[in-house]
Amino acid sequence: MEAHTDRFKVTAGRELKNELSQIFLSLLPPGFTILRQIGMSSFPDPESAVEQARAIRAEVIERMPELLEEFERNAVSRGARVLWARDAREANDIILDIARQRGITYATKGKSMITEEIGLNEHLIRNGVDAYETDLGEVITQLLELPPFHIVGPAINVPPEEISAVFLKKGIIKEPTTNPIELGKAVRVYLREKFRHLEMGIVGVNMAVAATGTIVNVENEGNIRMTKSSPKTLVAVMSLEKVVPTMADAVHMVRILCRNCTGQKMSSYVSMDTGPRKQGEVDGPEELFIVIVDNGRSEIYRDRETRDVLRCIRCGGCLNTCPVYAKIGGYPYGFAYSGPMGQVLNPLLLGIEETSDLYRACTLCGACRQICPAGVDHPSLLLTYRAREVSRKGKDRKVEKSLAALVTLGISRAWIWNLGVRIMRPLFRRLAQNGNITDMPLGLKGWFTCRDLPDMPARTFHERWIDRRDAPLPERQRKKEV
Ligand code: SF4
Repeated sequence: MEAHTDRFKVTAGRELKNELSQIFLSLLPPGFTILRQIGMSSFPDPESAVEQARAIRAEVIERMPELLEEFERNAVSRGARVLWARDAREANDIILDIARQRGITYATKGKSMITEEIGLNEHLIRNGVDAYETDLGEVITQLLELPPFHIVGPAINVPPEEISAVFLKKGIIKEPTTNPIELGKAVRVYLREKFRHLEMGIVGVNMAVAATGTIVNVENEGNIRMTKSSPKTLVAVMSLEKVVPTMADAVHMVRILCRNCTGQKMSSYVSMDTGPRKQGEVDGPEELFIVIVDNGRSEIYRDRETRDVLRCIRCGGCLNTCPVYAKIGGYPYGFAYSGPMGQVLNPLLLGIEETSDLYRACTLCGACRQICPAGVDHPSLLLTYRAREVSRKGKDRKVEKSLAALVTLGISRAWIWNLGVRIMRPLFRRLAQNGNITDMPLGLKGWFTCRDLPDMPARTFHERWIDRRDAPLPERQRKKEV
């Protein structure tokens, strides 16, 4: 998908004023947090379960190259074809070629973050192969051309009236309705028709088991299972970090993944496929391609300071605990990944310079690190990006450096500080009262574009203290002193 991380502040400002988004944001993260607590407490020892998951992800990071080779060997020995793509373009071209060589005109897709990252739908559609999303939320966002609002509920904030209007326009329903059951039924019928004649299905991969060459998918609607079992040709797209050493590791990660976001002990459907359909099996694809996408990850992996970002299993738990996400939702992040997960991943995929608003929009409270079952240390990563940006821009940052020097001088001498306060207070008061930022000096305009300043009292505490110093004490206090 096309990245719009440069619109972060504008979109965040818009979302803060969007009443509907604010209602969902006041319910969604707290709701998921309660469900998560219930789900995690169903482990006999939740802390050990998380520790085990973190250890699995640490092992994956340590052994990633050899695990990927092992996965390839085992997947190939079970009849799958493994193709490696250096970047998004290569991955898209590989998948388009598979479709073209078979004369395929459309494919259905299971929900997959990596295909959103590489913009697969757009590429296929541009080149004459229709790509139909099959997860209900993804169907809605695809038809409305919206980015995901939340990783687990991409269209959870879209009102039924809007869904009805777009379904009507696309012929999915004949009469307008806002009944969610009818809307769900209609999209089911519409997709069944697609599955019935399906020649090619495309899915992501939640875990790729190195020891067996198995791909594992987790979902709640059954659409991925339909996409995997209906067509002759199945293409599974995965990023490097999806690999896990053993089936036992995959199962543990699935148990953690479900509990850590929606609080489910297990999602409604978990499918595990090792190679294409074998003789005597009733369903499954005749041919299975597994496209392993790098798209910048080798470089991330080579860098010891950033490689831990590859621990992420996309559970979405960190979105539900992040105070920033809870105010602005998923749209401002402008890419496939939102919330803390996006803040640490997008800068490495899209470039530190292009995404500075993302890693700056963080209070470093560390709630995401605490909730992360994969052991991603978000605050450290965000600080690394900030430090890299500062050292790169070091020479240009004259304004910030001068301000820092001024403040240092001010706090070392009281009279300078008081003078500074006298000069700056009227300016800040005006800003707080009318929000006019156009005449802010010294680069402060950028700072206040997305920060609200509380209104200041007309006089400082110090001034008021001097006035009251000799005033008679209130009755109650006088009695106490006596
Ligand atoms: S960073 Fe951690 S909590 Fe967030 S989505 Fe990834 S694994 Fe889940």
